[in-house]
Amino acid sequence: MAKRVESPSSINTFKQCQRKYYYQYIEKLPSFPSVHTVRGNIAHSCLEHFFDVDVSSYTRENYKQKSREALQKLLLFHWKTKDQELQKLKLTQDQLRFYFEETMMMLINWSNQFFERMEGIMQKKQIPLQEAFAYLTPVREMQYVSDNYSVRGFIDAIQHIEEEVHIIDYKTNSSLEVKDSIKLQLAIYSLLYFEKHGKLPSKAGIFFLRHKLKLITVDEELLKLAKREIELIHAHTSATEEKKDYPKTVNSLCKWNGGQCDFYDICRPHE
Ligand code: SF4
Repeated sequence: MAKRVESPSSINTFKQCQRKYYYQYIEKLPSFPSVHTVRGNIAHSCLEHFFDVDVSSYTRENYKQKSREALQKLLLFHWKTKDQELQKLKLTQDQLRFYFEETMMMLINWSNQFFERMEGIMQKKQIPLQEAFAYLTPVREMQYVSDNYSVRGFIDAIQHIEEEVHIIDYKTNSSLEVKDSIKLQLAIYSLLYFEKHGKLPSKAGIFFLRHKLKLITVDEELLKLAKREIELIHAHTSATEEKKDYPKTVNSLCKWNGGQCDFYDICRPHE
């Protein structure tokens, strides 16, 4: 059987519950976006396009205010483009307003930390605002595909800081913990980066938009973790695509207060 092309999410799904992986990636049953995934995508789009804003008229005095206004406009625009998906979630107007405002607060939180970095760079390098903005503009939404590992992934932001390279993923999660699944995601991105550029990124991390950037050091051990997990999934999925070989992992991720696994009804984990 040919190797499937995996991603950090498919590998983490496989590790969480093999039956869920089977339904999602082999049977390709539809999954249902939640408000968290939709607004996560919206926040990502805002941060991606923020760096395309024309800052040529911004000054040291007004750039914070103008940047916040630009983020607000981006949020309104991207929220509107997801209108149909949001309507399908059947939320009340109050709930939609809550999620919109919460997302705006996350973007403001991110921007406050961006301004600190802007101030630091302008002071350290004695460069004008526009140059500092260009210096801090990351490579965004870069797709990495490895034929060798049969894995692909999108890296939200790649930041070059002096001699260092930091690869960063944005998350709107309420949990601020760098869980094993997140560590594995960063390990896979680091491996993909290393394979393409022949150089290890210095750090990889998550910008928790409710909080702050958390970075981990990229080393050989992290790459080994990625290689090991990639090998394990390929060994399994290349050997069989029979449903019976993808067992259920029944736990609190099947159904929780206010939500359930996308495949709960077809899976019937408790029967
Ligand atoms: S309901 Fe539970 S056991 Fe079934 S696929 Fe989903 S996570 Fe796995």
